[in-house]
Amino acid sequence: MIYPIVVYGSPILRLVAKEISAESYPNLKTLIADMFDTMHKSDGMGLAAPQIGKSIRIFVVDATSLEDEDPTLKDFRKVFVNPKLQVLGEDKIVMNEGCLSLPKIREDVDRNNRVKITYYDEDWNYFEEEYEGLKARVIQHEYDHLDGVLFIDKINPLRKKLLKGKLNDISKGKVDNIPYKIKVLK
Ligand SMILES: [Zn+2]
Repeated sequence: MIYPIVVYGSPILRLVAKEISAESYPNLKTLIADMFDTMHKSDGMGLAAPQIGKSIRIFVVDATSLEDEDPTLKDFRKVFVNPKLQVLGEDKIVMNEGCLSLPKIREDVDRNNRVKITYYDEDWNYFEEEYEGLKARVIQHEYDHLDGVLFIDKINPLRKKLLKGKLNDISKGKVDNIPYKIKVLK
């Protein structure tokens, strides 16, 4: 099932999402498969559950399409259930980011270069891993969604002011020419 993407202006994107248990989500695998399908259909590199209207701590990533540019992305297709994130070191990097919930907005965002993350997969296997570079960036962006944070919260206030008109349009569902369906959840 392909979900519409919940966009900026929807209060659910500002909530701290809840952890799930195996008991409360017997259909976890279906949900995760739907999240991958929705992400691929929308041409996204990551998708967090609040973006499909579910305030729970799950996100998926897939950057395997960039394998030609960066061979280390070959197997970067993953689901993170109940993740816990820790930034490592002091190194920060600026990169241009976008978000399915903020269609047609791209801005430079400063983020830590290295992270450590613990999480479960769809079979409730536990993992503890470290990432850097683009992978760490995608993970931090998606993890922020679980805490109600959007990348525009991290840009300079003047830039954000300039985006006001665009943000206003998005929050009314007024966005043209994007390859996926959006929804404003009030
Ligand atoms: Zn996003």
